[in-house]
Amino acid sequence: MDKLSSVLLIFTGGTISMSEDPSTGALRPVDFERLQDFMPELKDIGVKLKSIPFNPFIDSSDMNPDIWEKMALIIQDNYTEYDGFVILHGTDTMAYSASALSFMLENLGKPVVFTGSQLPMGMLRSDAKENMLTAIEIATAYENGQPIVPEVCIFFEDTLFRGNRTTKKNAEHFNAFNSYNYPPLAKAGVHIKYFRSYIHYNDPHLKLKVRTKTDRNVAILKLFPGITQQTVEAILHIPNLKAVVLESFGAGNAPRKKWLFDALKSANERGIIVVNRSQCSTGSVEMGRYETSLNLMQAGVLSAYDCTIEAIVTKLMYLLGEFSQPEQIKQKLTFSLTGEMTVS
Ligand code: ASP
Repeated sequence: MDKLSSVLLIFTGGTISMSEDPSTGALRPVDFERLQDFMPELKDIGVKLKSIPFNPFIDSSDMNPDIWEKMALIIQDNYTEYDGFVILHGTDTMAYSASALSFMLENLGKPVVFTGSQLPMGMLRSDAKENMLTAIEIATAYENGQPIVPEVCIFFEDTLFRGNRTTKKNAEHFNAFNSYNYPPLAKAGVHIKYFRSYIHYNDPHLKLKVRTKTDRNVAILKLFPGITQQTVEAILHIPNLKAVVLESFGAGNAPRKKWLFDALKSANERGIIVVNRSQCSTGSVEMGRYETSLNLMQAGVLSAYDCTIEAIVTKLMYLLGEFSQPEQIKQKLTFSLTGEMTVS
């Protein structure tokens, strides 16, 4: 008889783990024991499952780098024992956690599939069951002894995305996520169709290396017409600030104001890394295409190319945690570490 596939479920919380408080109507986390009552199918799917529930479950708005570390270490400790890992997580910050883990789990050779739901598991029309069962199937999909998707990914509704390319786009419908700048890794219909040419395969001989150090001294500076010098200066003078994501317009453009140029140049000279990411969901920053981004280059601003905001924020936290020299970090920002961006 063939050996049963095995999956470790890491249950962090989110809507998938919630029920309605009868007195207030607000959603709140329920006990893990009660959740299993809602999914008796789990006992019959022919997969050896073990769950590690967080206690208490958390709404993913409370997610933080310490919990990313906890997830990464659980995977490290159980890596050889399971064929794949499914992380049940709130949708609100799932794309941040998936991005962070994609950097922390270097040389990953097994599937790590995040999923959650828009409606709690106990509700009749809930999307929890399909999402979870398909995520488990993807985590155990192997061919010739090799996993089909050895990546950190997000499965939601009917699509598997690369985790660090994904953004939450919808708070209402079941298709909560999208990957605007990278094609899906799989589509689930009657069959699950994998798009192998888009899946990244590390050398299977490399050993998993878990790097969990992070540094939170990162900020986002979102430009808008009329933004004042005081606002920009206040952000660039946050105590201990080490890196800023400048959210610019279109292909990476910013107002041609001398005070803005001076503020960014001075931040760069003080060792603060400034990375330019577009406010557009689709497309890439092209520094120097317009005059309005040429001056950013001259101020020492780097390009985030087509990174999601989730990927560039977590990449900066990870690089600042793992490396101490700004020049080394800047160099690592010029290429894709784990498929998070397309350098044009
Ligand atoms: N607030 C919830 C969370 O992110 C939303 C969800 O799970 O969809 O934990």
